[in-house]
Amino acid sequence: MSDQFSLLILPGDGIGTEVMAEVRKVIGWFGDKRGLSFSIDEDLVGGCAYDAHGTPLTDATMAKAQAADAVLLGAVGGPAYDNLDFSVKPERGLLRLRKEMDLFANLRPAQCFDALADFSSLKREVVAGLDILIVRELTSGVYFGEPRGIHADDNNPDNEGGRVGVNTQRYTSGEIRRVARAAFELAKKRGNRVCSMEKANVMESGILWREEVQWVHDNEYPEVELTHMYADNGAMQLVRRPSQFDVIVTDNLFGDILSDAAAMLTGSLGMLPSASLGAPAANGRPKALYEPVHGSAPDIAGQGKANPIACILSFAMALRYSFDKGADADLLERAVEKVLADGARTADLMGPEGGTPVSTSEMGDRILQALDALA
Ligand code: NAD
Repeated sequence: MSDQFSLLILPGDGIGTEVMAEVRKVIGWFGDKRGLSFSIDEDLVGGCAYDAHGTPLTDATMAKAQAADAVLLGAVGGPAYDNLDFSVKPERGLLRLRKEMDLFANLRPAQCFDALADFSSLKREVVAGLDILIVRELTSGVYFGEPRGIHADDNNPDNEGGRVGVNTQRYTSGEIRRVARAAFELAKKRGNRVCSMEKANVMESGILWREEVQWVHDNEYPEVELTHMYADNGAMQLVRRPSQFDVIVTDNLFGDILSDAAAMLTGSLGMLPSASLGAPAANGRPKALYEPVHGSAPDIAGQGKANPIACILSFAMALRYSFDKGADADLLERAVEKVLADGARTADLMGPEGGTPVSTSEMGDRILQALDALA
């Protein structure tokens, strides 16, 4: 009997519901045609949860997320909620999920489909076929370190303006080791190479980072290739020759910047999936939240214009990283590649070379047809 995977689906607001409807079709296909067995629950998050319950995430939904093998989220937010109190804004639902599930490893693939290589700001030959994964530490580092704040710079008459702003880059060895383990595990499911990025040349926290990543490698993952690079050089290399990388692991601040830069290597926001992983549960599967990088896109919501591929590729990540179904994930990515190569384009992908305009649901249907053709 095959494993049963529990999946909590949170479509959210705006185009979140539209793109998730296409993911539901894809999930159905993998159930029917590949014998994968999912127990699916669906619930509210964000503005729609606020409308129904007065909170962007109820305790009951939070509990379901903690119990699920994976959570798949669409997007949250919209102009109707812009003036709500900070404590009940739609984004608070998302932040609560990330915090309470302790999702410390954020995964952002930068994958360039051949048919879209001309969308990149870099030359086609630099990005065509690109497939890298940036693993960013998400719950510590300079965004959280204490002390922090802005205060008077007493007894410093030379400071024009008289104030000082402080943030603290702080990492424990345990925080570094756990995200390093996540990166090595991921590399084993891909190209078996990890490049760790920090600034060990000027920061003590960078020296600790480098030593701890090396320790995890030497003691637990000697079979994975590990290199180290200063993060500023890493930024240069990402735009010079991105294909040299497989998995990049880095801290919260550098990861924030490097993953946004890498995203633009591949073109449209409607194409970018992400995952956030936590510690492995008793069944060995990590706590996991999969979501497209884009938001609820109120400017196109309800018009059938949204590109569902980012959300569909987020489900492919769930297949690969939560359910250990790498071959099925590959199949889904190849189906997306085929549909794009055949010329189907939602409005966001319509470039000067043209293509066949398709709606959100037509894009989903074409991906199902491609799955049938490739399976
Ligand atoms: P956005 O990502 O929603 O949209 C930015 C632009 O990209 C828009 O022009 C939109 O039409 C386009 N776009 C985004 N996704 C697309 C897709 N799948 N297909 C085609 N076009 C797409 O960002 P925004 O406009 O800054 O924010 C809108 C709302 O979404 C806000 O309420 C914001 O707070 C929220 N938001 C949520 C998340 C999330 O849920 N993770 C992330 C970012 C923004």
